[in-house]
Amino acid sequence: MTVGRNWIHLAGVIWPLLTEAGSAGETLTYTKVAPTIATNPLSVGLALGPIQTYCMENRLPPLTAVVVGKNSGMPGGGFVAWDVDDLAAALSAVAAYNWELIGNPFAGFGAEDTEDTFAEALIDDPGNAVDVYHRVRDRGMAQRIFRRALLLAYDERCAFCGLAFPDALEAAHIVPWSSCEPAQRLDVRNGVLLCASHHRLFDRNIMWLQDNFLITYYDPEEKDGRYRKVDRAFTIALHGSNIRLPKDPTHHPDSANLRRRLALAAK
Ligand SMILES: [Zn+2]
Repeated sequence: MTVGRNWIHLAGVIWPLLTEAGSAGETLTYTKVAPTIATNPLSVGLALGPIQTYCMENRLPPLTAVVVGKNSGMPGGGFVAWDVDDLAAALSAVAAYNWELIGNPFAGFGAEDTEDTFAEALIDDPGNAVDVYHRVRDRGMAQRIFRRALLLAYDERCAFCGLAFPDALEAAHIVPWSSCEPAQRLDVRNGVLLCASHHRLFDRNIMWLQDNFLITYYDPEEKDGRYRKVDRAFTIALHGSNIRLPKDPTHHPDSANLRRRLALAAK
């Protein structure tokens, strides 16, 4: 039975096997890896998935190329990180890389930890952001966790316009990821849930937030051209109104972060 297994945690369990074999220029079979995570060879790919994604997102050699079929000697169908016709080059790249440099990126995921439990930890106490940040090493995963936390905090609505399609909602950082302290990167008080369009306008500082949570638009008096009704509704009509704040005041944006953003934008 494979349902309910924590594949990210299991990715962390097999990571050292893969880096050890890969550094030695060796391959492992699915049959050999499967028992180390108490699964069957066909399900090993589910634990390889997060590793493959991590390597691709971080431009690392394709570590999962070291796991091959017993008879075929080739990675399975889920392997997309490299041209399988040139497996030898993939394995050389893996062997040449010093995997000790980055350590096991999934080591922070205990058997009970998932992206959802980390998101809940950020909501239970925004002060958990530092701990979660250090345990979740993959930036893509960290961003997904941050978004999930903001979806919870903002009740799945855009803080500007109230749009409620979860697929269109994104996590916006107030002090940008690149400018903030690690402790703030996953702190819900340094984020706001916005629809994709408002996120873009916010990122470009075309719309921003005052430190008292008032939405501000750069051209409230329509001096910069004529507006269509829908454009006005999305921008000018919101100027001077309050954002939809999270119900729980401990999740509200931190005014100091809002001031810091305005200062950075003014530079
Ligand atoms: Zn919106």
